[in-house]
Amino acid sequence: MPNNHPNNQSTHIAFIGLGNMGAPMAKNLLKHGYSVRVYDLSTDVQQSLVAMGATTSTSPQQAVENADVVITMLPAGKHVKSVYLGAPDAERLMTEGLLSHLAAGTLVIDSSTIAAADARLVAQAATTANIDFIDAPVSGGTAGAAAGSLTFIVGGADSAFARAKPILQAMGKNIFHAGESGAGQVAKICNNMLLGVLMSGTAEAINLGVKNGLDAGVLSDIMLQSSGRNWTLEVYNPYPNVLPDVPASKGYEGGFMSQHMHKDLHLALQTAQDTAVDVPMGAQATQLYDEHIKAHYEKDFSSIMAHFDASVLK
Ligand code: NAD
Repeated sequence: MPNNHPNNQSTHIAFIGLGNMGAPMAKNLLKHGYSVRVYDLSTDVQQSLVAMGATTSTSPQQAVENADVVITMLPAGKHVKSVYLGAPDAERLMTEGLLSHLAAGTLVIDSSTIAAADARLVAQAATTANIDFIDAPVSGGTAGAAAGSLTFIVGGADSAFARAKPILQAMGKNIFHAGESGAGQVAKICNNMLLGVLMSGTAEAINLGVKNGLDAGVLSDIMLQSSGRNWTLEVYNPYPNVLPDVPASKGYEGGFMSQHMHKDLHLALQTAQDTAVDVPMGAQATQLYDEHIKAHYEKDFSSIMAHFDASVLK
């Protein structure tokens, strides 16, 4: 049930980054009655939210004017750092960071998956400017974003978490406070390293069965009721036409791009290296995606199936 509390309309949210995840998340805020101003480098995606009541903007600075809350859903750490802290004007990134445009007391929620160190860097700069910053990466994919059932994994101060919670509840179902600043990102990359391993392993097992005469759907049903059961088999099968409405049944379009899984696996490996932790399975999955993104970086990450059976992408 949307929480259309009358006060929601008086909470002004700036939402920056309206890709596969950001656009449906912003739509759920609108459904809950929040006042939302959007910004993305692509003007087309901004327009798609106007029908639902969003206001558009021509720059990130304009988007955050009078905002009580700022939410970002950007591809990677370099985008988040450049948006908040400013950066050399390469790759169409802005030169002056948004933090210098925000009023003291603004709540900033970054839901992108980035390095914990980058999240802590932005959080520190925000604290200096008396701005509340939390890292709040998500799990649940584009289906979870559309359904408003995402899992949010938050790092930051208790008080900032408490302020953010009702807003996150408009977009998600399970809201976890993992710990201090950066903790959300650490938990998220542990999860995604496991997801990369599970997706690769599931694709490998299905391919073994298919190459030995089994039907991919029948084999998936068997494994779903056996000890190989896992999330990818349940809701995100990598083999075409086993499940309806998943990227594998739609030419591996939309969903969670291989380049993002590749980024997350490297974040996990970097964290493991920095803290002298052994992650051999994560390293193996990373090698597979290193190779895979050379040709398929924009395809959904379940297209790793093509590493085992190239015909699925033809
Ligand atoms: P995406 O590439 O579809 O969307 C990113 C959007 O950000 C694009 O619309 C792009 O135009 C915009 N953008 C880039 N730089 C910008 C800037 N400087 N200012 C404004 N807009 C800018 O990515 P996505 O799939 O929506 O993922 C976003 C983040 O969420 C990533 O960090 C990803 O790892 C994470 N994530 C994705 C999924 C998923 O299933 N897609 C699930 C969980 C987490």
